[in-house]
Amino acid sequence: MLKGKVAIVTGSTSGIGLGIANELARLGADIILNGLGDADEIEATRSGLVRDHGVRVVYDGADMSDGEAVRELIATTVETFGRVDILVNNAGIQFTAPVEEFPPAKWNAILAINLSAAFHGIAAAVPRMRKQGWGRIVNIASAHGLVGSPHKAAYVAAKHGLVGLTKVVGLETAGSGVTCNAICPGWVRTPLVEKQISDIAAERHISEKEATKELLAEKQPSLTFVSPAQLGGTVAFLCSDAASQITGAAISIDGGWTAL
Ligand code: NAD
Repeated sequence: MLKGKVAIVTGSTSGIGLGIANELARLGADIILNGLGDADEIEATRSGLVRDHGVRVVYDGADMSDGEAVRELIATTVETFGRVDILVNNAGIQFTAPVEEFPPAKWNAILAINLSAAFHGIAAAVPRMRKQGWGRIVNIASAHGLVGSPHKAAYVAAKHGLVGLTKVVGLETAGSGVTCNAICPGWVRTPLVEKQISDIAAERHISEKEATKELLAEKQPSLTFVSPAQLGGTVAFLCSDAASQITGAAISIDGGWTAL
C-alpha cells in the first residue's frame, strides 16, 4: 500500500514511534528513524526494519527541541529520497509537578519537543507535499490534547496546542491532496508511562502491579493499555485512500478515557 512512499517518524527509536515506523515499513514505506538512544541499539533497530521489511531505512538524530534541526531533517530527507510523503510528529517528553512548582526549563522543553517541533516540521514539509499533490501529516497528541489532568500543565498545554495546530493545517491544506490529523492515545505502556507507574508505586508504597491497575482504573475504562502496533494501524489507515477526506480531525484511541 505504501510502496514508494517516504515516511519520517520523529521519536521512533522507542515506544509508539517505533510501533508506527514498523507498521509503515511493513506496508512498504521507506523510513526515516529519529530519536535519542544508544547508537548500537538504534543501528540494531534500523537494520532490523530493513531485514524484516526490505525497505530503505535511514537514521537521522535531529534534536526535536531545536526548530532549525527539525527543518533540516525535512530538507535532508528530500535531498536523500527526493520526496517526503508522510510526516508523523511523535517525539515527546513528560514531566509532572503542580503548576506553582513546575520548572520553567521543563515547560520550555515540553513545549519545544511536543508542540513547536511539529510546527517546524509541518512548515518545512507542506510545500513539498503540495507539489507532490499528496501528503499525510499525523500528529501524535494524547487524550491530554482533549482533557486535562492535574500536574501536567506543560504536557496538556502542548497537546491541546497540537490539536489546534492540526485543525489549522487541515484547513490550510484542504483540497490539496495533503491531510493533517491528530491521534489522541490513552495510556500506552512505553518508557514514558513506566516512569509514571514507578512514581505512583513509590509515592503510595504499593507494588508496580498495583500502581499499573490504579493508573488504568483512574482514566481508561477498558482497563487495558493501547498498543504501539494499534497506533501504527491507525496511522496506516490515515494514509489509506479510505481516509483521504479525514482532515483536521482528532481521533481518540483511548479505551473510553475521553468518553467519560
Ligand atoms: P517514549 O519515551 O517511549 O518515546 C519518545 C521518543 O521521543 C523516543 O524515541 C525519544 O528518543 C524521542 N525523543 C525525546 N526527546 C527527543 C528530542 N529532543 N529529539 C528527538 N527525539 C526525542 O514515549 P512514547 O510513550 O512512545 O511517546 C511517544 C509520543 O506519544 C509522545 O508524543 C507522547 O506524548 C505520546 N503519547 C504517549 C502516551 C503513552 O501513554 N505512552 C499516551 C498519549 C500520547
